[in-house]
Amino acid sequence: MLVFPHDAHTHTTYSDGSGSIGDNVASAEARGLLLLGITDHGHYMSPGTFKRYVREVRRWAAESGLVLMLGVEGNITENGVDVPEWMARELDYVIASVHRRVRTADEYIRLVRMALISGEMDVIGHFGASFPHVGFPREGELREVLELAEAKGVAFEINASYHVPDVAFLRECIKRGVKLTFASDAHSPEEVGRVGWSEKVFRRAGGRREDLLFGEIL
Ligand SMILES: [Zn+2]
Ligand SMILES: [Zn+2]
Repeated sequence: MLVFPHDAHTHTTYSDGSGSIGDNVASAEARGLLLLGITDHGHYMSPGTFKRYVREVRRWAAESGLVLMLGVEGNITENGVDVPEWMARELDYVIASVHRRVRTADEYIRLVRMALISGEMDVIGHFGASFPHVGFPREGELREVLELAEAKGVAFEINASYHVPDVAFLRECIKRGVKLTFASDAHSPEEVGRVGWSEKVFRRAGGRREDLLFGEIL
């Protein structure tokens, strides 16, 4: 049983997930979650599709017994986060993630730093997922990322699919007041709410309710 039962990062058929919004909601309710985020990849959606997406999430929010949040996951690109303003203003929150293939940790950190400076997101998604492939950044680089997140009021998610970030990074977040969320990054309804790893490392890092972005709801 989770102490902070929430999952702030799930996908549906509006992007590359296999279930409907209703399927994710049903799965979250069955698992006893108090809060669920629907966060499809924004670049899959035309303005018309996005309108339907917003309407459908809001309808489920009114019908379901849990707090249903509307988000998108955007890409961190050379030109910032690719979530347009007309999309962002309809959303409860924006996750921004590096999805492109990078060659070095420096390149990854540079992208995240630029995105943080733009401040065009609420949460950084699966931070460090590329490090096992390209090498780990220096401590000073991580410190700069943390300082920027702190200054901009941006949160990090604890991603149970990629198992990032690590406990040391989470401890730093907590020390600095940088908020955290739990994230399954589910691409199927069965995976919704699989955030046991997130809660385990969050608590190992000394996390408490007030360290969670959605702590007041939980
Ligand atoms: Zn992602
Ligand atoms: Zn995702």
